[in-house]
Amino acid sequence: MNENPVVSSQLSAASPAVSAGVIRQLTEIPGPRSRELMARRDQAVPRSFGKLTPIFIRRASGAIIEDVDGNTYIDFAGGIGCLNVGSTPPDVVHAIQHQAGEFIHASGTTPYELYLALAERLNKLTPGDFEKRTFLVNSGAEGVENAIKLARHYTGRHAIVAFEDAFHGRTLLGVALTSKAMYKSGFGPTVSDVYRVPYAYCYRCAYGGCELGEHRIKGENTDDWPAPKLPCVGGVENLFKRYVPAENVAAVIIEPVIGEGGFIAPPRQFMQQLQEICRARGIVLIADEVQSGIARTGTMYACEQLGLEPDLIISAKSLGAGLPIAAVTGRAEIMDHPSPGGIGSTFGGNPVACSAALAVLDQIERENLCERAREIGARVMNFFREQRQKHDFIGDVRGLGAMVGVELVKDKESREPDKERTDKFTRMAYERGLITITAGNFGNVIRTLMPLVITDEQLDAAFAVMAGIFAEIV
Ligand code: PLP
Repeated sequence: MNENPVVSSQLSAASPAVSAGVIRQLTEIPGPRSRELMARRDQAVPRSFGKLTPIFIRRASGAIIEDVDGNTYIDFAGGIGCLNVGSTPPDVVHAIQHQAGEFIHASGTTPYELYLALAERLNKLTPGDFEKRTFLVNSGAEGVENAIKLARHYTGRHAIVAFEDAFHGRTLLGVALTSKAMYKSGFGPTVSDVYRVPYAYCYRCAYGGCELGEHRIKGENTDDWPAPKLPCVGGVENLFKRYVPAENVAAVIIEPVIGEGGFIAPPRQFMQQLQEICRARGIVLIADEVQSGIARTGTMYACEQLGLEPDLIISAKSLGAGLPIAAVTGRAEIMDHPSPGGIGSTFGGNPVACSAALAVLDQIERENLCERAREIGARVMNFFREQRQKHDFIGDVRGLGAMVGVELVKDKESREPDKERTDKFTRMAYERGLITITAGNFGNVIRTLMPLVITDEQLDAAFAVMAGIFAEIV
């Protein structure tokens, strides 16, 4: 049984649903029922469909998860970024239940107003003061596929530029655009005509660093610095000179804050210079905000803080509070370019998912969740920076709003990634009642994706768990 001070003393199996707000441990972790289910899973589900924790969930509310053995956990993973409004938010649940009783599916055969309402809403919410259209699909990867199709159709060009450390999904085009080699291993050939350049990853700069990057690593705000052309932007121009002519490039696709690849927030100047290059050369700029969007970074979209008005933007994950819905929103002339039927999706924009998404957007506005993301982010960032001063194995601490990444290294001097210690941290965290997930091409980044409805008490409890672990894994 856990002796952590934040564990609730209320150890009654009959305690009410998951609302206590702190960690409760009734069994060893994972508990007997979770272990039993895990054994069944191993027989029924392919091992290649990875599992992040060996804990089976029974129910969840806000930022608290209850497992099948009655233990509760603070959720720092948010269903991999899908639960910005929390688990089972009452108004979203109500919207889903109501719509399920009206009609569950219609597709394009008989249009419905919910689809329009969501499209109109996203056309307004996404950055860029130009005429837009929104097309709804089921997943982030399907959004990416459609954005690339639209960019190719509009420009009549083929080549796509993506970045190192990018993640854009697991379809064959998705893995072609994704950087991590493991996701492609044995699955090729994927899609040709994809070119890759290093991202603005200041802590591990592919170009040997620059003054602005050095100051950012120290945690300084460099947003208003005038910057000459950054070396990482030079990398894109170099690509156009040496590998693929710009006039062949249909799109540059970029995560405004890299997600799976390590929660890397770039300098604002990088994004603006990139945008200028794309505009000057007629290249469609696609922002993949599947993970960084929907209030996570302190604004509805990270692009807003980076001064970016992408031609196409992809929303997914937290848009549906867990229901599968994603969107491609963009310039009307690009979205309207293919002829009718050129794009489509049987389940895309499902009415139940649309009503959930509209309730999500209402909740974000009503509860000021963008502001709350900034508050959470500031507290989390402070906590990790304090820990960095104490421990040589905490390398970089970075992020935007509540999208914070912490890189664990062998030591600050070498910056050598420490995946082993990161995995140990994750295991110790769930054993103590905190669910976390990792990121990064080296598997050494702790990322924070807690629901934005997390309470201060729950945040403090999570900090206590993490501080205890950091002190032990020295
Ligand atoms: N793009 C980004 C930035 C993502 O983080 C993800 C998923 O993690 C995807 C695309 C793929 O989304 P999905 O898993 O819904 O297909």
